[in-house]
Order: sequence, then C-alpha cells, then structure tokens
Amino acid sequence: MPTESGVDRTRLAELAARERATFAAQRPRSAAAYQRSEHLFGRVPMTWMNKTAAGFPIYFQQASGNRITDVDGHDYLDFCLGDTGAMAGHSPAPVVEAVTRRLGELGGATTMLPTEDAAAVGAELARRFGIPYWSFALTATDANRWAIRLLRAVTGRPKILVNSYCYHGSVDESLIVVGPDGHGVSREGNVGAPVDVTRTSRVAEFNDLAGLERELAHGDVAAVLMEPALTNIGIVLPEPGYLAGVRELTRRHGTYLINDETHTFSAGPGGATAAWGLEPDVLTIGKSIAGGIPIGAYGLSAPLADEILGRTDLDLVDMGGVGGTLAGNPVSMAAARACLEQVLTEQAFAGMTATATAFATGIRKIIESHGLPWSVSRLGARVEYRFTDPAPRNGTESAAAADAELEDFLHTYLANRGVLLTPFHNMALMAPQTTTADVERHHEIFAEALAELTA
Ligand code: PMP
Repeated sequence: MPTESGVDRTRLAELAARERATFAAQRPRSAAAYQRSEHLFGRVPMTWMNKTAAGFPIYFQQASGNRITDVDGHDYLDFCLGDTGAMAGHSPAPVVEAVTRRLGELGGATTMLPTEDAAAVGAELARRFGIPYWSFALTATDANRWAIRLLRAVTGRPKILVNSYCYHGSVDESLIVVGPDGHGVSREGNVGAPVDVTRTSRVAEFNDLAGLERELAHGDVAAVLMEPALTNIGIVLPEPGYLAGVRELTRRHGTYLINDETHTFSAGPGGATAAWGLEPDVLTIGKSIAGGIPIGAYGLSAPLADEILGRTDLDLVDMGGVGGTLAGNPVSMAAARACLEQVLTEQAFAGMTATATAFATGIRKIIESHGLPWSVSRLGARVEYRFTDPAPRNGTESAAAADAELEDFLHTYLANRGVLLTPFHNMALMAPQTTTADVERHHEIFAEALAELTA
C-alpha cells in the first residue's frame, strides 16, 4: 500500500532488511572495529557518527579526491564529502603541500603569532564575499557563536532570530522551532540548554516575511542568523523577493543580518551572497574553505567592524568571550590560502555546478519515470531530493516530509554498490574531481533501487 512517500511499506521493509544484511555481511572489519570501540562514548569518536543507515559506521582507510576506500577494501564514490568539509575533494594536492610545508619545513602548528597567510585569506574572503574584515575560528559553530556575541554587544539586544529547522552548529540560540501554536519552542532533543531557548531566541519560518516582521517588531532581536537557503532539512530555496524582504525588514527594525554560508557556499565562489547579490552585515563560514583542515571564519561590514573596535568596554583581546587559542592557527591559514587560491577556484565551481546540474536532471527523470511524488532541489554544486512534491517551502514542511526508513534504505542500497550520500538527508555534493561518469554510476544504482522499490 503506497504511503505519502509513494512507496509500499511492506516492500520497503523487506528490501531494507535484505540490504542491511548485505551491508553487514560485506563489512566484517568495520563491524569488528565498531565492536572494539567500547571506550568511545557511544562507540564512535563523536556521537553523531552513530547516524548510520545500516547499524554501524563504515570505517574508512583512505580517501582521495571524491573517492574513499574502507577497511574491508570496498571503494566508494563519495557524494557526502564530509557534509561539505571535503567539498574541495579529499586531500587536494595544493592543501597537502601547504600544510606539509607549514608543519615540516617551516614548522609551527601553533605559536600565538600571526602568519602572512592569514592576511591573504582575509583578502580573498573579502574579494569573494564583498565583506571587508575577517576573523577566524576553528569551526563554523564558533564563528556563529562569536558573531552572535558581537552583535548582542553592539545592539544591547538579548535575542537572536533563526528559521525553524535551521542548523547552525551546536549554537544554543539556534535550537528553536515554530511550535504547533505558531510560537517558538525548544527543538526536540535539545541537550542541556542553559536557559529556555525562548528567552534567547525568536523563530520564523523560512520564506515567511510576515512571520519575520511579527517577531522583529518586538524590538529585542540583535541579529537574524540564517542560511540564504536552508540546507540541513533538505534544500529549501528562497522564493523570489524573500531575501530582499529579509534585508529590508532587518534594516527597518535595527537588526543585524548574519548569512551563514557554511553550506550555501556551494552556490558559487562567493557563496549565495555573491551569486544572489546579498548584503549581510556579517558572514560566517567554515568546514570547506581550508580543504578539510579545521577552520571557521566570520566577516564583518566596515561600519560594524569600526563600531565594535571603537568600544573600549568590550574585551576583544583577553577573556571577553570571543576567541580561542588555536583559532587562526598557521596550519588552518596555510590550508585555507591554498584551498581558496588553487582548489575551490571560479573554474572549479563552474565544473562542480555543471556536474550537479547533470546529477539533478538525471535523478529528476528517474523519479518521474517511477511516478514517485518526490522533488529535487539544487544549490550550485549541491543536490538533494525530498520525499514530497512540490518541494517544501520552509523547514517545518520539509521536516514533515522526512521518511527515515526510506532514507536509510536508499543510503544502504547505494553504499552496498559503492556510492556514499550524506547521512541525515539525501544530499549529494560535487567536488572538483567528480565526473559525469561518477554521476551516471550513481544514477544507474539509484534507478535500480527505485525499480526494485516500485516493482
Ligand atoms: N552552519 C551550518 C549551515 C552548518 O550546516 C553547520 C554544520 N553542518 C554548521 C554551521 C556548523 O559547522 P561545524 O559543525 O563545523 O561547526
């Protein structure tokens, strides 16, 4: 009996069980490694690594470009790419060279002294995003946290507004969703919130300017923290006029605008900000810009930077709450410089976008040919399908279209045939090394999976 996702649940359950059994049988070494990890909290280096489609993680041995080999000797085409951290491909040669030189010949992983690479990275980020002043963190989460602190300080306002079902890292203020009665409530599963999230945050649906205006009218929002397109609950693209409306409303209500481009960087060499002519006050980014080496960065507009630096009461130098010893370290800076100057170039983005377009066109055709009510969205080099059609317009709609059993089946089916998608959703990201032949290989397997599902 087909359900909302358009698939027969009995058939799905049978196929999912078959694929899980195959997955386990083919990966004895991964299974054993998982068993041996009893001194890791949850058996994994980080608890989210238990988000696996088939019961235990694949332990990888080697990675290069868009390919991964696991400890059982299976090769994979990697469309996950470290959920964007490896958008430049795994271990791109210029980054390996720069990091090796920094650590070896030049020496110094951390010194409390700046290197000249940092200035070059700041200049390149300024050129790409049109935001003039940059500071560094080690993760996008911290870039967001520190941006939030600075904007609270300059506005004297207590709250941050985010979109329902956003993800900006483990940022306390962002774990809020629109509840059934239209008011903000803590996101389900929120771990150890310091205070009730409604005291620190407001929330509006993506693509809802009326809702945003209603919340901003309270006059207590320091900043709107948003992705120009939602990417962590499937891709939800902005409707025409929405982002211009957000900018107009934030200006009118004296609220700063932070664009989190950590994932939407896939839209082009200057992210969605450059691609769509956006004018945020602050831009945050991380993961991908150093070719997989830990980094986060936030950029500030000129008036904002001047205002903050002019505030003698804010301790930006010592223990005022913005900073980390390893932030801006020489290895991150060397890696980011090499990655931005030599790997994630304009030319690379043109290729990645073309490959992603082929990916989206192909899966759309396959989905249509099986008569499934699913939709496909693309954001530059990034493609995702959701089990609903038309594509969701906001986070709540997209969350409602989740189908964990179906998603796990597809991920397992693909992994068993040598393709990795991003856990947590059905996202495929193209690296500079991803070819149309790789895309076609994915499509062959995806078509087989849908044929079996709908048989
Ligand atoms: N912002 C966005 C939009 C993200 O998707 C993520 C992570 N997926 C983060 C911030 C946090 O990145 P990190 O986990 O590297 O701190």
